[in-house]
Amino acid sequence: MESLQRGLMYTRLVAYGVSLYLSILRRSLSARISGRAAPPPLPEGASPSEPRNIVIVGAAFAGYHAARLLTSTLPKDSPYRVVVVEPNSHFNFTWVLPRFCVVDGHEHKAFIPYGGGLPGAGGKSDIGKPVKWIRDRVVSVGKKTVKLRDSGEELPYEFLIIATGSSVKDGLPSRVGSEDKASGVELLRGMQRKIRDAKKVVVVGGGAAGVELATDAADKYPDKKIVLVHSRHAVMQRFGAGLQKGAAENLKRLGVEVILEDRVVSEDEASRTVTLRSGKEIDCDCFINCTGQKPSSEILAEISPSSILPDGHIKVKPTLQVADDALPNVYACGDVAETKTPNPNSRAAMRQAEVAADNVISATRNKTPRFTYTPEWANGVIKLTLGLDRSITHWGDGKTELLMPGEEKDLALMCDGSWTALGAKPFEDTGAMATTSKAGAHAVEPAKMQDAPAHPEAPRLETTVAA
Ligand SMILES: Cc1cc2nc3c(=O)[nH]c(=O)nc-3n(C[C@H](O)[C@H](O)[C@H](O)COP(=O)(O)OP(=O)(O)OC[C@H]3O[C@@H](n4cnc5c(N)ncnc54)[C@H](O)[C@@H]3O)c2cc1C
Repeated sequence: MESLQRGLMYTRLVAYGVSLYLSILRRSLSARISGRAAPPPLPEGASPSEPRNIVIVGAAFAGYHAARLLTSTLPKDSPYRVVVVEPNSHFNFTWVLPRFCVVDGHEHKAFIPYGGGLPGAGGKSDIGKPVKWIRDRVVSVGKKTVKLRDSGEELPYEFLIIATGSSVKDGLPSRVGSEDKASGVELLRGMQRKIRDAKKVVVVGGGAAGVELATDAADKYPDKKIVLVHSRHAVMQRFGAGLQKGAAENLKRLGVEVILEDRVVSEDEASRTVTLRSGKEIDCDCFINCTGQKPSSEILAEISPSSILPDGHIKVKPTLQVADDALPNVYACGDVAETKTPNPNSRAAMRQAEVAADNVISATRNKTPRFTYTPEWANGVIKLTLGLDRSITHWGDGKTELLMPGEEKDLALMCDGSWTALGAKPFEDTGAMATTSKAGAHAVEPAKMQDAPAHPEAPRLETTVAA
């Protein structure tokens, strides 16, 4: 029975792959057709010389993908212009952060230069480029404008895509906690030193980041005491029993002590102990918090408090328009949006970006947004590293699991593929490393950019990015 279910699952995976391919074809065809289409008529009173902004807030998996899709689909003479607002100097590649918190020599690879796959992105000049790039942070959204933190500018928008993802108070290993590459690299090196110099490391959180970091640290430093504290009944509890078991076995293999159904209530640096809710005290000279990711939805708080859920996610309609009828041209996608995705990840974020981008394109043609997002189990694939040379890739639909144990040969987790997918040459990055502070838009030296046509076909990130 179980093998029948697995067989069915493989078939559904193949069907999903085909449907994904067809959707790429559809989008590519639509981009070609729209490239030849006449621009939509201007609304009454609008000046033809004034570009009409489609503003994207945040340029990681969701926002960057939406920007690429929009710029490749809008006709060349479109009155619409894509404007991206992003504070980070580089695309922060989250997947490798736990590994690079432990293993040295690769940390620069977590910061991929913007620009290769989207000319104008991240660079000094966007003149003649399909995207206007503003290195800044949106502090609030209004009915027709967004307010920028550094310049104080009110940037007008006709359509807005909020792709601000999640943030975390403690920074590494879940997010970098810095906006430029040079200091991000330093933060990673600081964490490596902290772990290297410690004898007793306490890692909090038995999700992917905590399990990966704890197993990497135990593998690299077998003589250190590594303790993983997790509040739930099992590590990786959001995934299937098979992955939970695989993770637990590898934690044991590497000598990590796992404490379940308990929480850290205080950390005392002076006495070098952490205290758990159960009263247990653990010696600790290096404390790493892998919990506490929160959706970055605060920019909507003023204009639409009712569309922010208690957990911080933005409530959206199936079209990914914000669930507020007063804001029909505002969309949200990626980790910040509540889409009922069981295990939100980059794939789901990119699928959502496609829906938002397609609906914005429809709306620019005066059509009602009709594309909808439905969570798809196949997007929830995870490749969990379990020490420096092993992993388990997992697909699950809530009932059946497919587990593929793997050997990992590349300490940098093949992140060169992600550089290539983003149009950057691995690991070439000129100039940006010299930047130590950010002072407003375009303060960073541009990453090395390749020449590309003004409206390139948007390359697909997932074709080359590993799970
Ligand atoms: C340690 C770790 C490992 C992971 N590994 C995997 C994996 O192997 N596979 C996988 O598929 N997923 C993985 N994920 C999940 C994946 O990283 C997220 O699902 C994905 O990053 C979500 O993308 P996003 O674009 O929605 O948001 P984010 O990646 O959070 O990006 C949001 C962007 O918005 C910007 N931003 C935020 N606020 C503002 C503002 N006010 N103004 C302007 N810009 C703003 C930020 O600077 C950032 O660039 C991992 C996550 C973590 C933490």
